[in-house]
Amino acid sequence: MQNRCVICGKVITNGFNLCESCLREYGRDKSRYPEWLKFLIADTNREVRQERRISQREISFTDLGLYD
Ligand SMILES: [Zn+2]
Repeated sequence: MQNRCVICGKVITNGFNLCESCLREYGRDKSRYPEWLKFLIADTNREVRQERRISQREISFTDLGLYD
């Protein structure tokens, strides 16, 4: 599961929602982010949860042998 910067789409591994250059511009304190940026981050987190649910369902179908 790769994380991407919610602003520029660059792949990130730093555990934040922003890449290093966007972190430098907006800082690491989420409470100081502008509203549009908070919305982007909340929206991205929701997508990640949905993807995780879908892949869990695929695994259980495979376990039941429905795709054999
Ligand atoms: Zn970025």
